Amino acid sequence: MVYLAENIARVRERMAAAARRSGRSVDEVTLVAVTKTVAVEVIKEAVALGLEDLGENRVQELLAKQPYIEGARWHLIGHLQRNKVRQVWDKVELIHSVDSLALARELDKRAVSGGRRIKVLIEVNVAGEASKFGLAPEAVPSFIKEASGFTGLNIMGLMTVAPLTEDPEEVRPVFRRLAALRREVEALHLPGVDMRYLSMGMSNDFEVAIEEGSNLVRIGTAIFGART
Ligand SMILES: *Cc1c(COP(=O)(O)O)cnc(C)c1O
Repeated sequence: MVYLAENIARVRERMAAAARRSGRSVDEVTLVAVTKTVAVEVIKEAVALGLEDLGENRVQELLAKQPYIEGARWHLIGHLQRNKVRQVWDKVELIHSVDSLALARELDKRAVSGGRRIKVLIEVNVAGEASKFGLAPEAVPSFIKEASGFTGLNIMGLMTVAPLTEDPEEVRPVFRRLAALRREVEALHLPGVDMRYLSMGMSNDFEVAIEEGSNLVRIGTAIFGART
């Protein structure tokens, strides 16, 4: 699958150029390859080509593929229903999409009874789109204050999905806002909260996201081609 190697190389080059423009090294930016709808054989090839972090937005699909793929860390990047927590909490490296206190509480319960911590990001609906999950930006500091009391969770940063636009420049303010919000929460110095990750940027906007401070990009189409 020559196209795959080429696509990955091209994405990495573009990531590196964007990181340089933001005065950083690309080593500080983790690439999560989004494998939704991608066949297991293709995912195996991608892992063999060095992609070690894989993202799925649906629990069922993640669990169905995981047994066939070795040597990868899995990220849950889509909305998580409370009744699916039990199936997935200990199968993933990082959950990017905590968007309610009820979900945080459920994850905490599982973690505490399982005797380990779950790493999570808080999803923020920066642009206030009705079709998207995530907290309103204004609600984030108090939410994290409250969730920091959950000893089963490691809160490790923020995630957003920017509005889909023709011109990624249009969503630069969205990424800038999330970066500012991270600094705001960091300044609270909450015990047990480590705001190291900013998960933002997808195929059509990852360069702008990296320029604005993203260190975790979630890329599907630019690696695997258009989903059918
Ligand atoms: C599908 C998806 C992505 C990747 O989108 P592409 O445009 O294919 O790169 C990133 N993040 C989330 C939450 C997704 O659901």
